[in-house]
Amino acid sequence: MKALDPTETDKPWDVIVIGAGPAGATTAALLAEKGRRVLVLEKEKFPRYHIGESMMPYCWHVLDRLGLAEKMDEIGFTQKHSVQFVSTNGKVSRPFYFFQHYEHPSSTTWQVERSVFDQMLVDKAREKGAIILEETKVLDVVRDEQSGAVKGVKSQIKEGRVDTWYAPMTVDASGRDTLMISKNKWRNRDPMLKKVAIWTYYEDAVRDPGLDAGSTTVAYLPNKGWFWYIPMRDNRVSVGVVAEREYLYRDGLRDPAEIMAREIPENKWIAEHLAPAKQVGEYWVTGEYSYRSKFCADDGVVLVGDAFGFLDPVFSSGLFLALKSGEFAADTIDEALAAGDVRAERFEEYGKKVCWGMEMMRKVVYAFYDEEFNFSKLIKRHPELRPKLTDLLIGNVFENDFDDLMAACEEICEIPGDLDYGMKIPSGDCGDCGDQKKAAAVA
Ligand SMILES: Cc1cc2nc3c(=O)[nH]c(=O)nc-3n(C[C@H](O)[C@H](O)[C@H](O)COP(=O)(O)OP(=O)(O)OC[C@H]3O[C@@H](n4cnc5c(N)ncnc54)[C@H](O)[C@@H]3O)c2cc1C
Repeated sequence: MKALDPTETDKPWDVIVIGAGPAGATTAALLAEKGRRVLVLEKEKFPRYHIGESMMPYCWHVLDRLGLAEKMDEIGFTQKHSVQFVSTNGKVSRPFYFFQHYEHPSSTTWQVERSVFDQMLVDKAREKGAIILEETKVLDVVRDEQSGAVKGVKSQIKEGRVDTWYAPMTVDASGRDTLMISKNKWRNRDPMLKKVAIWTYYEDAVRDPGLDAGSTTVAYLPNKGWFWYIPMRDNRVSVGVVAEREYLYRDGLRDPAEIMAREIPENKWIAEHLAPAKQVGEYWVTGEYSYRSKFCADDGVVLVGDAFGFLDPVFSSGLFLALKSGEFAADTIDEALAAGDVRAERFEEYGKKVCWGMEMMRKVVYAFYDEEFNFSKLIKRHPELRPKLTDLLIGNVFENDFDDLMAACEEICEIPGDLDYGMKIPSGDCGDCGDQKKAAAVA
């Protein structure tokens, strides 16, 4: 495909999206559907590998809006009906079957190969009219000399040419590359949630029978580490281990294959399920430091998905928050463009909404890692709260409040207060980006 030259585009863009992952592709598709001229710049060539395979039921609502809910079954992704927790001695909790709580098509969700899922979203954005340039890396945003507002981006194609693109709105959907956070020093890390993940794939592993065949299993390790066990298509299972760095790298081990081999016997259920299996492909390792941006938006730019915040993946909230923040952002941007006002103020409600969802998930992640806490204990004490807990685990967070659930968790362990950042930038203040704005103004 011939690279698009900015000087050849006859009409200006309405929106530039940085990154074509689930958050960026959703924002792009929904804005293009509304008739906006959308340009997406993606540094990789799709399809590309990505981790983050287990979905939450409420992803369905965004996929349905995109016209993709049926396509998910046509593709044949593994159906996920529940999540279950397994103690180190192999004892399995009563699974949380989503349909027992909410009889609705969304109660069947999926385990997805991200290369296929992300390509499907990109195809949808293209079908709706967005232009997507792959192998095009955004180097930085471009700010207006007078106001300091973001008015476009500078990008570089693989062959090296640097282009500048202009639009009244830019969306940072750059995932854990966190373009805006990194350029502006907006990262606030969560010191309690700093884990390491090692994962790989197995063939011929044991699958539970019937409805449980596609379940996500979270299997505990000592010191509140855990395995994920995610059954995928084609006889594959994704297995990862998540724990504190000190725990994983104890005994001087560094090789991920050796660490995995050491940990598997630590959980009886995992050991039994992997006993007949053959490991395939490479081992992957990543630091999993949860973080959130100080701000969700500046004038002319908004942050979505992991580019806004990243949370420990124990409850598979990443894709859900990526899709949902993409949806919220698209609607807010469309209104802002219609009003001819793309100042950060416009994104106040957006920031509040997304932070609310992240907060509820973060609180229950804190509970999960507390030595005193487990779900059986919580439900034994408060059986009436099982539906509320299930609401949280399926992603029904934006229409609910969870005060009763959090109070019940707090009887067992400490639950953190709300973070007071992640909202729109206060007028005239954006921390270190003030220097960038000043630099733009004198350039
Ligand atoms: C170990 C681990 C396990 C996880 N497990 C789960 C799970 O089971 N379920 C779940 O829901 N979530 C999980 N997640 C989280 C999930 O992967 C993310 O939340 C999700 O991918 C976020 O989507 P996104 O669109 O925001 O970012 P991404 O999917 O990362 O997409 C960002 C895109 O931007 C592109 N990009 C980056 N920088 C630039 C640039 N400068 N210019 C142009 N393009 C750029 C990238 O190439 C990429 O394609 C997990 C995460 C980790 C680390």
